[in-house]
Amino acid sequence: MKVKPLFWALLFCALSTLPGHGLGDSSNVRQVLHSKTVHASRWHAADLSATDLGVWREELDDAGRVHSWTIAGQIFALLLCAVFGLLVLKFYYRARREARRREQAESELNQARHALELRVQERTRELSLEVEERRRAEELNRGQKQVLEMLATHREQKIEDILRILADTVASQRRSWECSLHLVDRTRKTLQLAATSEGNQKLRRYLVSISADFPDAPESQACATGKPCVVEKMTEVRRPWSELLVANGIHSAFSIPFRVAGSGDTAGTLTVYSRLQNGPSSRDLEMLESAAGLGALVIEHRRIHAELLHNAYQDPLTGLPNRRAGEQALELAIDTAGRRCEPLAVLWIDLDRFKRINDQFGHGAGDRVLHTVADRLRANPLLTGRVMRMGGDEFLALIPGKTAGTDAGLIAGQLGKAIAEPISVGSAMVTISASIGVSLYPRDGASLDMLQRNADFAMYRAKTAGAGMCVYSPAMSAETGAALELEQALSVALENNYLRVVYQPIYAQDEHLTGFEALLRFHHPRLGEIPPSRFIPIAEEMRLIVPIGNWVLRQACRQLQSWMEAGLPCTRMGVNISALQFAHEGFAGMVSDILCECAVPPENLLLELTETVVMGDYGAVVRQMNLLKDCGVRIAMDDFGTGYSSLSYIHRLPIDVLKIDRSFIERLDEIESTRPIVEAVISMATRLGLMVIAEGVETERQRRMLQEAGCHGFQGYFFARPLPAEQAGHCLAASATKRAANPQRAAACAVTVP
Ligand code: C2E
Ligand code: CA
Ligand code: CA
Repeated sequence: MKVKPLFWALLFCALSTLPGHGLGDSSNVRQVLHSKTVHASRWHAADLSATDLGVWREELDDAGRVHSWTIAGQIFALLLCAVFGLLVLKFYYRARREARRREQAESELNQARHALELRVQERTRELSLEVEERRRAEELNRGQKQVLEMLATHREQKIEDILRILADTVASQRRSWECSLHLVDRTRKTLQLAATSEGNQKLRRYLVSISADFPDAPESQACATGKPCVVEKMTEVRRPWSELLVANGIHSAFSIPFRVAGSGDTAGTLTVYSRLQNGPSSRDLEMLESAAGLGALVIEHRRIHAELLHNAYQDPLTGLPNRRAGEQALELAIDTAGRRCEPLAVLWIDLDRFKRINDQFGHGAGDRVLHTVADRLRANPLLTGRVMRMGGDEFLALIPGKTAGTDAGLIAGQLGKAIAEPISVGSAMVTISASIGVSLYPRDGASLDMLQRNADFAMYRAKTAGAGMCVYSPAMSAETGAALELEQALSVALENNYLRVVYQPIYAQDEHLTGFEALLRFHHPRLGEIPPSRFIPIAEEMRLIVPIGNWVLRQACRQLQSWMEAGLPCTRMGVNISALQFAHEGFAGMVSDILCECAVPPENLLLELTETVVMGDYGAVVRQMNLLKDCGVRIAMDDFGTGYSSLSYIHRLPIDVLKIDRSFIERLDEIESTRPIVEAVISMATRLGLMVIAEGVETERQRRMLQEAGCHGFQGYFFARPLPAEQAGHCLAASATKRAANPQRAAACAVTVP
């Protein structure tokens, strides 16, 4: 095509120059010359006439002219053709140049378009990568946030559930990824699967347990070395199930170990199973390490939580489940018994006078006793795993199944005996008894509260009756309910003015008043008048006896003060002191302060102590007594005859007065043999320099017998009942008047009564 214009131009020029063609053709000149030449050759030059020559000349001239014209025409035509040809050539080349330029432009355009397309593709890829990156970052953020939230808010959430969220979060980072988390077991021999991502569930059974010393598994390797382990070709792993992983589309795996704070050992691994055969990028590794760190945090958090929970449910002293755990166990046992239609026995075990051990031997000894009792309860094969410490000296034991109905009482008896065995506390041996109350499901209640309450009622009954063990009966409820109410009332008795002190006169042999015993009274607006025999043991058990007893002491001294201020003679005031009060280190100091405060001469105060006070730490008791004696205070041994009744130990103590218990005086009338005992006691005590007061003298006969035996003081209804302060004051005034009227008798009396 490109050569065509050139060809046509050349052809046109050639043709136009050919003879006989075109405007400037010279063929007629040549024809004329040819015919003249032929004619002249036939006629020799002699034959030619001048005319002929002229004609010829003319013809030749004509022909020459014509020829010149023809040549000119031909030249012109040639020039024309040349010009035309040049023009054609020019146009042709211009067209060709144009075409080339267009082609070049087109190719440049194509190149530019191609480059643009490439750029667009690249940018699109970059953008989609960015979008993917952002999606992953968001996914990661969301997952991490969720994990942290679950940790913070759902304390009861299972650790596996939290780790599963983490595994899903990691798996969401690459479409080709699945993720699992393994935890090292206690023996450190295996890695146990804790959680796996959603898409990995079908592989679960292959990953459940991985031997920690398996050399090729990335999990065990990471665990052993404490460094990330990458397996780029799963087929290279020698493990029985690696083919199964490959068969399930897993071609590579990488495992990151993690530790928990405070422990150098690896706690677990986070492993990625990839469907591609390549390792993680450094960025991936970075992200996986941060995810593994989160896994460690979850585990650490849960461990701390579990420890707290353990502490919250276990009694640290005895190692038994505590009250909270006990209540849960009881609830569970009730539920099980209900479903199986079986009975359940609830044993409420309370140690008797446990506080005395604490007070006498110290808290270390108390702890030792509790520990031993817990061991003894635990040792009973029928109670394995079913004994709880409910607090203080209270234990709960559960007996499920048929035995509960038939043998609960028997087992309770066995437990009581086991507890009562002597316990060695340092160099001493102590014995402690327990009161056990039994309630039965479903007979005595179907709920935790009812069973617990009724077992407590039964225990209370066992305690008050000194029976050791008691099985609940509905009649106890009312009685024990009142006791609980009493406890409640007692705890607010001082603030609510439910307490008052009455004064029982004590008389000398000459029937003159020698003093009073201050006795506490408790009047509750709803429960009425409550006798000391009921509320004093409860106050002791609740340790309320200390503030209450001190209050009585102060009241009694103030009473003496107010009588003195009223001009009455200062008389002797006996005040009962509980063992707990006496064991208080600052007791002697407090007594002395009260005496000063009330300006009462110390010898007028008689502190009445029972044998239980003296049975404590002998050295401490003697020290306290001596301190009191140094103050000038007098000390009486109260209730003599109810305990060891040994005059030998009393002899060694700085005691001034012996009060013979009412039970002896009572028997003076009834049992003949009592009289010689009482007489011997009075005689011996007198010889030891002690003043003897008989308590509970109710009859003239008793009074006479005691007087004959040489008893110094008399207290009892025969003389006077405990009186309110005002009446006691009248008594004191009357006695003073009487004494003033008969000074001789008073002097005799003063000799008899120390
Ligand atoms: P106690 O120290 O042996 O007090 C004597 C008890 O015998 C008093 O009983 C008194 O009312 C009672 N009584 C006196 N004479 C007779 C009588 O002829 N017949 C009969 N049946 N009883 C008589 P109460 O007031 O009921 O006190 C009982 C116990 O309560 C006291 O025995 C004492 O151990 C304790 N108690 C009373 N007040 C206090 C106190 O303020 N502190 C302490 N720690 N214990 C106290
Ligand atoms: Ca007394
Ligand atoms: Ca007494």
